[in-house]
Amino acid sequence: MTETSTIFPAGRLFAGGRLFIGGQWRDSASGRSLEVIDPSTGSAIGSIADADASDVSDAVAAARHAFDDGPWRGWTGRDRSEVLVKIAELVREHGDELAERESRDVGKPLAACRRGDINSVANQFAYCASLAQSLHGSTRELQTAAFAHTRREPYGVVGAITPFNFPLVLSGTKIAPALAAGNVIVHKPAEEASLSALLMAQLMADAGLPDGVYNLVTGLGSVAGNALITHPGIDKLTFTGSSRTGKRVAAAAAENLIPVTMELGGNASNIIFDDVDIDRAVGTAISGFVFNSGQYCMAGTRLLVARSIYERVLAELAERIPHLVVGDPRDPATDLGPMAAERHRANVERYVQLAREDGGRVVVGGEARNDGGGFYYLPTVIADLRNDSRVVQEEIFGPVLTVQPFDTEAEAISMANSTVYGLASGLQTRDLVRAHRVAAKLDAGMVWINTWSKNDASLPFGGVKQSGYGRESGPEVLESYTRIKSVVMSLED
Ligand code: NAD
Repeated sequence: MTETSTIFPAGRLFAGGRLFIGGQWRDSASGRSLEVIDPSTGSAIGSIADADASDVSDAVAAARHAFDDGPWRGWTGRDRSEVLVKIAELVREHGDELAERESRDVGKPLAACRRGDINSVANQFAYCASLAQSLHGSTRELQTAAFAHTRREPYGVVGAITPFNFPLVLSGTKIAPALAAGNVIVHKPAEEASLSALLMAQLMADAGLPDGVYNLVTGLGSVAGNALITHPGIDKLTFTGSSRTGKRVAAAAAENLIPVTMELGGNASNIIFDDVDIDRAVGTAISGFVFNSGQYCMAGTRLLVARSIYERVLAELAERIPHLVVGDPRDPATDLGPMAAERHRANVERYVQLAREDGGRVVVGGEARNDGGGFYYLPTVIADLRNDSRVVQEEIFGPVLTVQPFDTEAEAISMANSTVYGLASGLQTRDLVRAHRVAAKLDAGMVWINTWSKNDASLPFGGVKQSGYGRESGPEVLESYTRIKSVVMSLED
């Protein structure tokens, strides 16, 4: 493997991160860079290149050249599959360093990142390696003397934009299927979360990906991101991030008349019916909202509880949550690390203040902590808010759970479906018939029954309503990264 000093030539830990364009590491055209802050200390630990529109144009040109003139397009599905398998192997081999970067960049508990995120991204590449070999079209019976078949073909240059909360996993979710289908990529990760993408770029090159097939431009959303979504050389966009930014991306895609996959915000409800084992249901509810310090698009942030057990569930939450360890992400005992950036924590503080003004009862938490200079926020439960409070309706993206009682199944479903989001939803009950009946009525791309967060590379993933459109993962992902061509050949002499 190329020395990581090529990626960080200045020597200091993570200092001087570069752009990866056309198989070469280089500085941004302007020479500008952005500081990387460790959210567990608030200190700068390095820098990344701050790309502008000219860097993005170079990356798109390199990708176009790789697609039109390079060897990549001549590769068979089997060739692509082999390189994806190799990438999966390198991800596992370099798992410690990838996890270390991710943890320092966004404050993820290191042990959980090593166990969860690294496995997940390696599995994604391994799964897509099998998809690369299973791309197929079909034959059609025509009314004339002709033979017809369909082909699934790559779009060409895919512009991929990813958020800060699961930098590695969500990048893999786009890169692996886009490559499996034979596309080339220009990727812009979130400005707060680019360290793992830098190493991934090198690992993919080391795995044998031809120059220009994967290009990395780090920088600001408003500059590099905006240049990427509006660039006329992009054939397909794939975006994961907030619904607010997603609307701008959708507008840019419409302007250039290109397809886009939208993985946007969420505000999942978790319904607890009165027949549950309360101990288990509360455990599921807690893990569902504290995971990744609540910076999780599918976090179960709205707990809807049958009125007969409402106060018991609240008491149980108040008893168990203070036992969670909030602290240093490098400590294996830590359950919640810091929020990824100070501005994200400030946002959570504003919502908790608003909850108090709206008459909410803070049952536990409700406080920021600055241990070691980090951006921590205690896991927080707020009861008694009205369903139309902004705190209930909007995505907070922090470790905050609102809890509301319901009287009937119909009311629970109506409350669950009452937000503009529809990414994930869940319910807990021992009544099998009710479980299926309610799951069918929830407006969400993913429904969990008696569990939370279970996911897999083989499962289609995506939202409804303002949580987005298009699907990632599962065999369905090939719909997002290929287009269909019909080929007709005359059978007349
Ligand atoms: P964000 O929308 O602020 O940023 C996402 C990405 O878009 C970043 O790379 C950013 O630099 C870029 N960006 C910002 N402005 C841009 C512009 N004008 N043009 C082009 N790109 C621009 O989101 P975030 O704060 O990084 O991530 C959190 C959000 O992402 C939450 O809403 C969360 O629910 C959502 N999310 C969704 C999923 C999913 O799969 N549906 C997964 C993870 C996160």
